[in-house]
Formats: sequence, C-alpha cells, structure tokens
Amino acid sequence: MGPHDGIERFTSPGKGRGMRALRDFRLGELLFTCPAYTCVLTVNERSNQCDHCFARKEGLSKCGKCKQAFYCNVDCQKGDWPMHKLECSSMCTYGQNWNPSETVRLTARILAKQKLHPERTSSERFLTVKEFESHLDKLDNEKKELIQTDIAALHHFYSKNLHYADNAALEVLFAQVNCNGFTIEDEELSHLGSAIFPDVALMNHSCCPNVIVTYKGTVAEIRAVQEITAGDEIFTSYIDLLYPTEDRNDRLKDSYFFTCDCKECTTKQKDPAKLEIRKLSEPPSPKTIRDMVKYARNVVEEFRRAKHYKTPSELLEMCELSIEKMGAVFEESNVYMLHMMYQSMGVCLYQQDWDGALKYGQKIIKPYSKHYPPYSLNVASMWLKLGRLYMGLEKKSAGIKALKKAIAIMEIAHGADHHYIAEVKKELEQ
Ligand SMILES: [Zn+2]
Ligand SMILES: [Zn+2]
Ligand SMILES: [Zn+2]
Repeated sequence: MGPHDGIERFTSPGKGRGMRALRDFRLGELLFTCPAYTCVLTVNERSNQCDHCFARKEGLSKCGKCKQAFYCNVDCQKGDWPMHKLECSSMCTYGQNWNPSETVRLTARILAKQKLHPERTSSERFLTVKEFESHLDKLDNEKKELIQTDIAALHHFYSKNLHYADNAALEVLFAQVNCNGFTIEDEELSHLGSAIFPDVALMNHSCCPNVIVTYKGTVAEIRAVQEITAGDEIFTSYIDLLYPTEDRNDRLKDSYFFTCDCKECTTKQKDPAKLEIRKLSEPPSPKTIRDMVKYARNVVEEFRRAKHYKTPSELLEMCELSIEKMGAVFEESNVYMLHMMYQSMGVCLYQQDWDGALKYGQKIIKPYSKHYPPYSLNVASMWLKLGRLYMGLEKKSAGIKALKKAIAIMEIAHGADHHYIAEVKKELEQ
C-alpha cells in the first residue's frame, strides 16, 4: 500500500476543506509524508546543518563563493544551486547588510520554484500552493504594512535573480505564506528553518490533535497520536497547546483567522489546572486573580520582544522578578509560571549554566506532562533536555530514566526508526 492510500481531501462541515481518514490508523502509524515544496535553513544553523538536505553533521563543506552555505557533498550543493543562487552573490554584495527575514527568503524560493516547476509537484497531491488561503480581506493595517515591508525587502535583496509578479500578487503570496508556512524544528524544538508543505497545510486544527508532524531532513512525516477510525477528520495542532482556551483562541484568531470548536475549547476541561491558584488561608480575590492574569499575559509579550535586545542576565532578572510576583497568586504548575521558567531554562542553556537549566527543567516537566496531550513534542523535548543535562552532570540513573521517557513519546511521534531515536539510544549506552 502506498503512503497516500488511507487519506482523502474532503469538505469538513463548518471548516472548509480538510483531510479525512479512509481507513483505521493505529497509534504511531504513519499516515503520509510530504517532501518540502521549498525550504530555507535558518541563518543561525549555517555550518551545523546542510543547506540542502538539513542533515546535521560535522565537516560540511562551504560554498566557495559566498562561504555562507554548507553542504554534505557536491550532490547537495548542486541540488541546492537553483535556490542558493538567489542569495549567493547578493550575500557577497551586501555583506553585513544582507538581512532579509526568513519569510522573505522562503517567499523568494517559492517564486523561483513556481518558475522552475510550474506543474503540480509531489508535495501537492491534495492541495496546491496556488490554492492556499490568504485571508487577505481580514488583514488589519498593521499586518498589511508588515507585508509591504517584506515586499520591499524582496525587491531590495532578490531583484537581480527574480522576475516578479505585481504588487497585488506578491501581497497575496506573502499573506498565503504567513498562514500556510511551517517552521522546522529539531528534537529539542530548536528552530532549524522554514518550509512549505502544501499537503500538510490541508489539515485543519484541533487542540486535541489526532496526528503530529515531525521532520526527517526536509520531509514532513505525519503520524497518528490517537487511534483513528475510518471516516475521522485528521487534525493537527497549529499552536502551542500549553495555554488556556482564551489564549489559544486569541493566537488562532490573530494568525489563522478562526476560533476553535474542539472538545477542549468547548469543555475548557484543562483550564482550571492551567490557571492553578495558590491555596492560601486567605484566597486571592477574583479581581486580584484577573489582574495577575493580565500582568502575566503582558509579561509574556514583553519578554518575547525583550529577547531581541536584552542581555542574558537582564532576561534572567526579568524572568525571576515576574516569577516572584506571580508566585504570590499562582501555583508553580500555573502555565504562566511555567512559561517564564521555560524562558529562564532557555537563557541558562544559552549561558551553559547546566545546573540552573536543570533546576528549572525539573520544576517544569511534571506539570508539562499534565497540561499537554499524552503524545506531545513539547513534553518529549523537555524529557530529552533534562536527560541530556543529567547525563552531562554525571547523574546517570536520572539521565537514563529521562531519556527513556523521551524515547517512549518519540517512538509514537517520530516513528521507531527515526535517526533522532538512534542518537538518543547511543547516548543511553555511554
Ligand atoms: Zn546534504
Ligand atoms: Zn554561495
Ligand atoms: Zn480547540
């Protein structure tokens, strides 16, 4: 049986087009794969991964001309040239001033790909790039201005190598990329790049998804994380599922222009635990709680912006202050506390403060497992980070236990034969 035999495109009541199972799928079973229509390696991962196939290895060889792109071998370099040539000479010309956003880089590649391969590709068996929803009519002025900034950058950095569509067509294309583009992450959820996977974009969203998307190089793989019965709609999650219903739907509305009606959004079953309040002899008033949630949501947003310009120690201080303030009202298992602890852990890892990172990870993992669905990449990656920290700090038995927890989830989400699992198993033996 081929990898596309068990699924079909259909019209989902109230959701427009979607994807449906034609047969049963068991937990961990592969539903389909989708090679990237086009993709781009993020600037920070250059020299760690091959620009063409995203393989992670030592000793990649660099493009002799720009010395900025890295490849496994001549085949990968040749394979990448139709896309790399959009940037190679431009990076030489602009030097330090070459700074298009990843969205602009990806969009340039879509335009080149459409020219190079106008026929339907193997990434578009169920949905074509041309069919992508743009939601252009729903964009506010701020979003429209951001798109115009991207279009200006596209003209600035790519004009030599691309023939453009007119401004209106580019506006539509950027809007399509904004709501149909994917980011590729590694097993610890570090950002590797951006890509277009048309068939994957056909799936609708649910906060209780029955499939998970993982990556093998630049190929997306879609596996069942719940038992699926013939006739069921296939749902993936577009967003981080840690947060309470209102926050999730703000995010869905802002980025994808819809409100979710899944079981979790209707029953809000997990919200009380996600917003856990401290049990004090004098419980905080409803107003105190409301004000603290408002503060928390602000601090999350403020931190997201601060990451671009503050120093690690300033960021850590920001986290610690907010954790202390929220801790007067929220339990440590409250998702806003967890959010700031996760950010602290990230800063500690960046600073190679392994003990600091471990301290936060240990606090995060248990509530994480409770808030997220049973098979979650967020939970798997947290076990993995914890396990690797333990092993590095010579705490072998705790390390082995954590790594095995990560493997148990990854065997379902990534598939038992994924090279990430082979790597973790190697770490277990050391
Ligand atoms: Zn390669
Ligand atoms: Zn080059
Ligand atoms: Zn939902």
